[in-house]
Amino acid sequence: MEGPALRTHDFGFRFTLSVEAMCRCFFDKLKFPVNLTTMRHYSAFFALKRTERSTGPVLLPVIFPLHREFGGLSLAWTAMVRISTLAICCAAAVSAAAQVPSQRPMPDVFLITIDTLRADHVHCYGYENVETPALDSLARDGIRFTHAFTPSPITNTSHTTILTGLLPSSHGVTDFALPLADSHPTWAELLKQKGYHTAAFIGAVILDSKSLAPGLDRGFDFYDNFPAHPQTRARWGRVERRAMDVAQHANNWLTAHPASPHFVWVHLYDPHDPYEPPAPYDQKYKGHPYDGEIAYADSALAKFLSFLKLRGWYQNSIIVVVGDHGEGLKEHNEATHGIFLYDSTIHVPLIMKLPGRSQTGKVIESQVRTTDILPTMIDLLKIPAPAHFDGESLKTYLDGTDNVDRIAIGETDYPLRFGWAPLRSVRAEGVKFIQAPHPELYNLRTDPGELKNSYQPSDPTVQKFQALLSDLKAKAPPKTASDASLPQSATTSLNALGYANSDRKNSGAPADLPDPKDKIEEQNLLHTAMIASDDNRLGEARAALEKVLALDDKSPTALRQLGELELQAGDYTKAAEHLQRALKVRPNDATAAFEAGQALQKSGNLPGARDALESSLKLMPGQFPARLLLGQVYVGLKDTKNAQDQLEAALLLQPNDVEAQLALAQVQIASGNFAEAVQQLEPLSKSRTADAKVFELLSQAYSGQGKLQEARQAEMAAKRLKKND
Ligand SMILES: [Zn+2]
Repeated sequence: MEGPALRTHDFGFRFTLSVEAMCRCFFDKLKFPVNLTTMRHYSAFFALKRTERSTGPVLLPVIFPLHREFGGLSLAWTAMVRISTLAICCAAAVSAAAQVPSQRPMPDVFLITIDTLRADHVHCYGYENVETPALDSLARDGIRFTHAFTPSPITNTSHTTILTGLLPSSHGVTDFALPLADSHPTWAELLKQKGYHTAAFIGAVILDSKSLAPGLDRGFDFYDNFPAHPQTRARWGRVERRAMDVAQHANNWLTAHPASPHFVWVHLYDPHDPYEPPAPYDQKYKGHPYDGEIAYADSALAKFLSFLKLRGWYQNSIIVVVGDHGEGLKEHNEATHGIFLYDSTIHVPLIMKLPGRSQTGKVIESQVRTTDILPTMIDLLKIPAPAHFDGESLKTYLDGTDNVDRIAIGETDYPLRFGWAPLRSVRAEGVKFIQAPHPELYNLRTDPGELKNSYQPSDPTVQKFQALLSDLKAKAPPKTASDASLPQSATTSLNALGYANSDRKNSGAPADLPDPKDKIEEQNLLHTAMIASDDNRLGEARAALEKVLALDDKSPTALRQLGELELQAGDYTKAAEHLQRALKVRPNDATAAFEAGQALQKSGNLPGARDALESSLKLMPGQFPARLLLGQVYVGLKDTKNAQDQLEAALLLQPNDVEAQLALAQVQIASGNFAEAVQQLEPLSKSRTADAKVFELLSQAYSGQGKLQEARQAEMAAKRLKKND
């Protein structure tokens, strides 16, 4: 962003220069390590003081920002002396600058979401067991909302709410991998239309727009997805990025794209479990590593804010920091988040810093929602609002003209993944109503911990809130059919992050499903098993899953996970057993059927593998690995016709897959179609010159055609390659 244009003849020649650029030029000459904020301060200051002829009044106010900049009066004084000449020159030179009418530029907008951040675990929210200096400083420079609530306790759903201003039931992203419909404009799209340069930096694969969060990248010039084929087995880089890395990626992008205005979203995932803060936070927060992760994420926020200050982008930007949801920390027996709608997981910190020094240190205690954030931005930036928001601008609270609590709705469909009832809640008028198979009502004034359920069906508040939820349900757009069976790479990522990957589409009507309150112990055990399994602690994972089965021997999630675990451990008979039991409970689980096919094939039961894979493909026809495996199973069963059909279908899905090409060539040779096999293999012999298998098959195909010389040559090539191996 350039300062006011300066046109002057004072230097004996005519040129156009920004005041900022001129100051920068002088400081460079003086070898003075001054940042852009300071330069802008001088630019603005000199422009104001253009009529001053004495250096005194000019220099006295200069010392203040320098004092802050360099952290000491003596350094500030030296600085002042060194620039005194410059000040005089500038004061004269910029005299024309202020006469040029300047149009107020759009402010930069920075959104920082900190994952799994409970409001009551942040220092400026009154928590003494953690140090969060960056959040505290931002609260001092801006507005802190003490009662902000997310409608969703799950990452991709709650982020979609922040980016659209819509409730989950409105935006429809109520599960992993559900695409955000084009009809819902996003924060990035709305700002991009106004000339903003937009970029997003995510900390976990759960927000990857190529797999688990399709559509969330809409409107971003750059969206920092994870590599499709990570080079590492480690959690970091594969499914998570450390907050410092995320901040560094954002800083790098901003450095390469300095033109304002920016809209940059930075997502810091670290406080999400497993809690493994890096040094020194691991030692400092021994015994409470969740707080250690928060302190570490805060240090990454500090790095990002310092960068903005250094580039001179802090002062005039809008900065929003918000938690996407909280964390159970065993309250209500919920270890993590996603299942319940208690305050432990829906009360989040929300801090907004506005341009300049307006509204600094303000605290707003009224109840607000994360659906309100985007409408507020649109209002502040004077951008025309889209047709519908579920939230409303918070500007009236900032103006001090409103202090009414807003009704906070809670929605979670995550329990459906386990076959349990979804939950809805209303938080208003000092009470919380939770709609569940066993409904709940809490008086938040006398029972803020939500421990004494005072639900009575005849209670007028209950009836009013039930009607409100029914009304919302009636108004919500119809749910798009979810192809809940995710590609295997996506389900592996989900598992690694501790999210269940079972299929929700097998669930019945909510009223008939178990209440999550009766199932939370199972959920905690399933979660433990997923994290342990990802860390290759198979014994621990197996023990947790067996405990789940002791509580509910028909838990499809536990049966499937146990099957996957035995598949990983190499006990294929046991794996097949568990997966077939899972399929009895949920016959429509395409992934479980595919995995059962894998286990049966590996344990030598080819007819069983064939049946399992056929049923998996009936449910989800586009699965390449299942098609390939079924083709190979048919090869094993000596059914060349079906083998050829399946392998050709697999190659329609992935035409360049070498394994499928070789399997098809093998089938073609077996069925006497030598010319087709040669046609398949000759290009491979040129692209895969070191693959003995290619030449072996080619030799067979040539000899089938009676081309004995070519066959001999190919055979010799195969032998040579095998020898070199
Ligand atoms: Zn989250």
